[in-house]
Amino acid sequence: MNKYDVIIIGAGVVGCAAAMQLSKYDLKICVIDKEEDVCSGTSKANSAIAHAGFDALPGTIKAKMNVRGAELIRQLSKTLDFSYIENGSLVLCFDEADIPKLHELYDRGIKNGVSGLSIISGDEARELEPAISGEVVAALYAKTAGIVCPFGMTVAFAENAATNGVLFRFLTEVKDIKKSDGGYTVITDKGEFDAKYVVNAAGVYSDVIHNLVCEDKIEITARRGEYVLLDREVGDLVKHTVFQLPTKLGKGVLVTPTVHGNMLVGPSAEDIDDKEDTETTASSTANVKEKAKKSVPGIPFNKTITGFSGLRAHGADDDFIIGEMTDGFFDAACIESPGLTSAPAIGEYLAILISKKSGAELKADYIAERKGIPHIAKMTPEKRTEIIKKNPLYGNIICRCESISEGEIVDAIKRVPGAVSLDGVKRRVRAGMGRCQAGFCTPATIAILARELNIPENEVTKNRPGSEQIKEKL
Ligand SMILES: Cc1cc2nc3c(=O)[nH]c(=O)nc-3n(C[C@H](O)[C@H](O)[C@H](O)COP(=O)(O)OP(=O)(O)OC[C@H]3O[C@@H](n4cnc5c(N)ncnc54)[C@H](O)[C@@H]3O)c2cc1C
Repeated sequence: MNKYDVIIIGAGVVGCAAAMQLSKYDLKICVIDKEEDVCSGTSKANSAIAHAGFDALPGTIKAKMNVRGAELIRQLSKTLDFSYIENGSLVLCFDEADIPKLHELYDRGIKNGVSGLSIISGDEARELEPAISGEVVAALYAKTAGIVCPFGMTVAFAENAATNGVLFRFLTEVKDIKKSDGGYTVITDKGEFDAKYVVNAAGVYSDVIHNLVCEDKIEITARRGEYVLLDREVGDLVKHTVFQLPTKLGKGVLVTPTVHGNMLVGPSAEDIDDKEDTETTASSTANVKEKAKKSVPGIPFNKTITGFSGLRAHGADDDFIIGEMTDGFFDAACIESPGLTSAPAIGEYLAILISKKSGAELKADYIAERKGIPHIAKMTPEKRTEIIKKNPLYGNIICRCESISEGEIVDAIKRVPGAVSLDGVKRRVRAGMGRCQAGFCTPATIAILARELNIPENEVTKNRPGSEQIKEKL
């Protein structure tokens, strides 16, 4: 029963993209994750930029995957119905002496095959983006850069994969992997699973999974990036994603709108030892704010609604590791930025490799399209009336900040793979993502989760077991 053609370890954006791309082929596939839902690792906490592709060094795997991934996101956002806006980006330069660095980025972009790049003056940049600093002397403008919903995209990949037969197993931690006659035995805390092929998409733990199987060891350093998220009231202060010139540690602090209309500022870059440590610190937050003000001096930080951090999976070679490492064992390791952008291309590449190796054929009955959950707040009054008539739960608003109805929350729970926690609901339909940060809607969302999952309210978790919000049995 626990026998598969392919086991994918990790249900982040990379694992789900691999599942989605592999589900086009006649293969029995299972995705395993130690958390309770998809998108529970780094894929949930990043800048959400679909990078144009001028940052990675020409010839690297990062550069190839970035450019192809950005192209695929543009197409897939339509067929799989997730939020993506091509808002363009600016890399700001504050010193005439640094202008050659902008040209370096421009040249890299051209070599990587990025279109729509130009170097513009400080005044031209201010015309595009009036809120940026008067000290900007020049900028690299990338027309094709975009912003995406990282949760929406990951969930869309997972749902499309599930529609095409992929199974998901959550709260299942891979502890060991042994070579077997027909492939590999994946040993987890919930039993053993056999597969002919294994894909390692375990994020910051992809070194641990790699090292269970491969003789050449790798090491990943968790590089934490902290953010400040501002209210939708000030979300349109900038329309483009505003970067500064990159540093040795990454792309530096950016100021960007999100697809949901908030403003996002960050990230910091700090190497840490603990691969679970996503705390935010007062000093990093202060540092991020200070740096962001250099680009956009008037950011109203009194409109901050929350802070969060994510962990980059930084490898020693500064590049992604993707491909067959040893017979039938495939890595998608060290996937730091631009991993979100690259994910569909990484999935596509792995699907080509595995289908060739296995001889699997494309499925005749593959379903390419997927529809997202309808959002009552975005509908015309006529459409709203129509949907509420069909399903009155759409008329009961649960999250007041984001205008999310009970119907949307129930839909999020009933999807496959569906939400089983407060975070799962939040990432699918945004209940709890607004100004009050779930202060108001948590009790009602717990009640809906309990009812739909047929469990007592004190068993409803925020995310992994142990995060129950109600301690006494009601
Ligand atoms: C601060 C920051 C900013 C970024 N900004 C951008 C950006 O703007 N644009 C961009 O393109 N990229 C960006 N990135 C990079 C991007 O977010 C990541 O490359 C991408 O999310 C990695 O996805 P993943 O699926 O590899 O990892 P994850 O999302 O971490 O998924 C890995 C999964 O593996 C599971 N797992 C691990 N070990 C086990 C085990 N033993 N058993 C079972 N399951 C296991 C985990 O639970 C997790 O769900 C950023 C990253 C950070 C940290």
